[in-house]
Amino acid sequence: MLTVVKNNFENLFHLFFPNPCLGCGKQLHKGEEVLCMGCESQLKITPFHQHHQNFVSEKFVGRAKIENATSMLLFAKEGMVQHLVHLLKYQNKKEIGIFLGKKYGKLLEQEQDYSTIDCIVPVPLHATKKIKRGYNQSELFANGLAETMHISVFADGLKRLNLGESQTRKKKFERWKNVEHDFDCLDESLLENKHILLVDDVLTTGATLDACCSVLNQIKNVKVSIATIAVVMK
Ligand SMILES: [Zn+2]
Repeated sequence: MLTVVKNNFENLFHLFFPNPCLGCGKQLHKGEEVLCMGCESQLKITPFHQHHQNFVSEKFVGRAKIENATSMLLFAKEGMVQHLVHLLKYQNKKEIGIFLGKKYGKLLEQEQDYSTIDCIVPVPLHATKKIKRGYNQSELFANGLAETMHISVFADGLKRLNLGESQTRKKKFERWKNVEHDFDCLDESLLENKHILLVDDVLTTGATLDACCSVLNQIKNVKVSIATIAVVMK
């Protein structure tokens, strides 16, 4: 009898407070979070974090100096990963970033390459973009990672310069740099002597991460490793 009452109550509760799987839309069962078991099993985590040399780290050879680099998932068009990244970036489904971060953090903290990480710095968005979107998806992934890796996030560790600022800097230092990839660190003392995990959403060419690494590598006694939610295989 009690079970019937409980089940009816749960059904009624779900009617008013639906908690659907963000992969397939079916109602989540007890113990499931963000994704149902079926959808979660479709997320094939890459083994990159277990190999010092891997597809992701190879992308940075001859570019910015890094310690380790890894991506959690492979980004394929029309697949579950693309669906989740789209929801995270454009549909305000912030919980996806945290969910994936927590899941991946548990794996990273078991690896020697990532066990010496002191803090996480997400790749920042342009200020105007962040205001429009209301959040930075890479920061959410960083927050999830930080929770299971038991370390801190410095969300403002890097700043994305706006067009005016970068033009000024260009004149000042007479240097060329793609405006799109222009970053700065406002308080280097926060990151001195640290092994930083630089975090982004989807890795394609690596130009953005490369630019961020160049800035971080100028800080005294810093090491930089990279982790992204997904990588495009091409
Ligand atoms: Zn599902």
